[in-house]
Amino acid sequence: MTDLLILVDPTAGTFEFTDLSAAQLPVTDLSAHRGDGIFETVLVSMGAHGATVVSRQRHFTRFRASASALDLPDPDQGLWDRVIDSLIAEVAAADPETVEFGIRYALSRGEQSGHGGFRARGWAFPVPVDDHIHSAREQGVTAVSLDRGFDAYIGSKAPWLLIGAKTLSYAVNQAAGRYAGQRGADEALFVSHDGIVLEGPTANLIIRRGDRLLTPNPDAGLLSGTTQRLIFDHAENLGLRAEYADLRLEDVKMADGAWFVSSMRSAVALRELDGNAISVDQRLTERLQEIIRGR
Ligand code: PLP
Repeated sequence: MTDLLILVDPTAGTFEFTDLSAAQLPVTDLSAHRGDGIFETVLVSMGAHGATVVSRQRHFTRFRASASALDLPDPDQGLWDRVIDSLIAEVAAADPETVEFGIRYALSRGEQSGHGGFRARGWAFPVPVDDHIHSAREQGVTAVSLDRGFDAYIGSKAPWLLIGAKTLSYAVNQAAGRYAGQRGADEALFVSHDGIVLEGPTANLIIRRGDRLLTPNPDAGLLSGTTQRLIFDHAENLGLRAEYADLRLEDVKMADGAWFVSSMRSAVALRELDGNAISVDQRLTERLQEIIRGR
């Protein structure tokens, strides 16, 4: 993958190319020491007829919603589209064989300027689909359940928790991933304190029960995933009904298939939870991956 980085000045509505390996962010930027910003990661699928940014509009709509939740300036879609398209053109020129890659774009509150004002700062860069994603797509993953530490549906009573916003504050999610790793699992599965299944630290969960696809309700306290919604939009074509539901760990263990879904993973089978084997639906796993990756 290239070392390209685009720096975005949302106030001026401009952007410039630079180099990912050079220092760019002042330590006084509030994203650096407060995680005070938002981001998205989109999958770009390269085909014979050009590049497809998977769920481009869903991502941008969520980016705007996250900005609004954090009182950040409303992002200009035209500007961010130009940023994404410019990066795609550069990656395609640098490596015409590229099949797929991700683009991570972020908006930080930036640095304090003057009397309590801030000057927001944005950036975007390509990320590779790395080996552990390829092996998870092929072999599935194991997970351990972890208490998220709050009751389900707390978000409406506590908007300051920013549940449902995709912020740059991922230290808890990272810690959960490490904790799962120390217990020999590939992934964590967050459960609310009162026992409702939520999501993984960087993925949503979908299960199949008979002819139904079920996923936790975003209002229960999780990020509303673009991949989950893309899959739900295709459910009917797959002969399935898609529904939001309050799931408990037993529901996941007894499912006819379970998947962690996210932009970069696409859909990976969850084949074991807390040491219990879960049915793997190989055919549907492949169909979901094809649908998401546009292949
Ligand atoms: N939940 C969390 C906490 C995430 O960080 C992510 C993606 O990174 C997801 C769910 C899946 O979202 P998407 O499908 O939009 O990538």
